Amino acid sequence: MLHMSTPLTNRRTKILATLGPATDDPAVLDAILAAGVDVVRLNFSHGDPSAQVARAEAVRAAAAKVGREVGILCDLPGPKIRIERFAQGKVALRAGEPFRLIARDDAPAGDEQQVGVSYLDLPRDVKTDDLLLLDDGMMQLRVTQIEGDVIHTIVQNDGYLSDRKGLNKLGGGLSLGALTERDKELIAVAAELKADFIAVSFCRNAEDMNEARRVAQSHGSDAHLVAKIERAEAIENLHEIVAASDVVMVARGDLGVEIGDAELHGLQKKIIRASLEQDRVVITATQMLQSMVESPIPTRAEVLDVANAVIDGTDAVMLSQETATGSFPVKAVEAMARICLGAERQFDHDTDFEKAPRNLQRSDQAIAMAAMFLSEHMQVRAIVALTDTGGTTRFLSRFRSPAQIYAMSGFASARRRMALMRDVNPVAFEYRGISAREATRFATRQLFEAGLLNVGDHVIVTNGDEMDRRGGTNTLRLLQVGVNGQAVGLASL
Ligand code: PGA
Ligand code: MN
Repeated sequence: MLHMSTPLTNRRTKILATLGPATDDPAVLDAILAAGVDVVRLNFSHGDPSAQVARAEAVRAAAAKVGREVGILCDLPGPKIRIERFAQGKVALRAGEPFRLIARDDAPAGDEQQVGVSYLDLPRDVKTDDLLLLDDGMMQLRVTQIEGDVIHTIVQNDGYLSDRKGLNKLGGGLSLGALTERDKELIAVAAELKADFIAVSFCRNAEDMNEARRVAQSHGSDAHLVAKIERAEAIENLHEIVAASDVVMVARGDLGVEIGDAELHGLQKKIIRASLEQDRVVITATQMLQSMVESPIPTRAEVLDVANAVIDGTDAVMLSQETATGSFPVKAVEAMARICLGAERQFDHDTDFEKAPRNLQRSDQAIAMAAMFLSEHMQVRAIVALTDTGGTTRFLSRFRSPAQIYAMSGFASARRRMALMRDVNPVAFEYRGISAREATRFATRQLFEAGLLNVGDHVIVTNGDEMDRRGGTNTLRLLQVGVNGQAVGLASL
């Protein structure tokens, strides 16, 4: 029997949803999976790790119940700078008043005049006139003077400040490294729960990603690494970071705060393009349907934002608070799915071979290119990749082609990783011990019987002729579906 990881849908763009208190009710979890979540995100910035481990188990059980496979992404907190707590939990600040940040471990509980800050090197990283943005920019402080471990500022706007809010500096330039000791501990937790993806927050360069990979590997994890692009330095080093990662996230929350909102739309396009050019998977994240935290319907601006991300070519769109703590988690996923489908109908497929890489390094990449070229010129309905690791699928799915890609793999972990790739339907398929020719026949017949192929359709099947060798795709067959789903070979190379 053919076993599809994703529910049968025509949707090509994938949905990543953050789990949290709002999805802990098993009925809600079932409903968001049914509404189309492909990968879930566990946000290690909130809650203790054991709560996240329990969520991973719950999502696996819920997915298995309906015969699905859902990927799990563990998002590390990273070196997010936070203020400490206030005696009253929250203070009101007024524009023009002085306020101090105390970079000391033993700073007293905060009040209207001052609050502690966890990053002790902050006084060395800021200078007079810098603008500090707290709570995603809701509260702004202008630095006036630095005196030892005390940063004197003037409040720029009326507003509130509460416990443990994040702090960014406009323009970036804070010197702290990406991977904290806490992150390293949490990588061990992610390895233990067999995360499919681990996201590195606030990475600055390729070495931050390499270090995360070394730590993950030392704990026996081969999770795909997600580089969250959310600080100014990451934009400067974008190409090397993309090269050192498997997946890239346009982390618009912190990025918008550090770079300023005016640059955000251009950067989103640039990051998506850079990821596709280097054959990486790309996620667009944060505030996509933010109003749905409290409202059952999205704003028109949000609808257009999600649609534009699809048109920019993103692989996946992400929900954060909308599903983790919002009042309408299921409606948010439904809205996401609906808007993606609508945008895909408008999307002008982009199979511009001028953009394709010229120096192909690998046989699976060469076969993927040939498949896409043929598919573009022969009206191919589906490309079936018999793949172990998903390598070929990754190259296939970097083109925004009208063909559907069926990634047939016997490895559940590979299928869960492919669940994040646009256009790709991962399918459980065991082809060990049978010949490539038999596997091809069997796979096309199964797709025909599932109603995914019709008589007369052109299909491309890729595989390695040594079927047991990982990453060894070197063969392509062009077939036409005949009566009873019996595929007839037209060409093979
Ligand atoms: P966060 O990352 O939600 O972990 O902050 C995403 C972002 O900054 O956009
Ligand atoms: Mn962030």
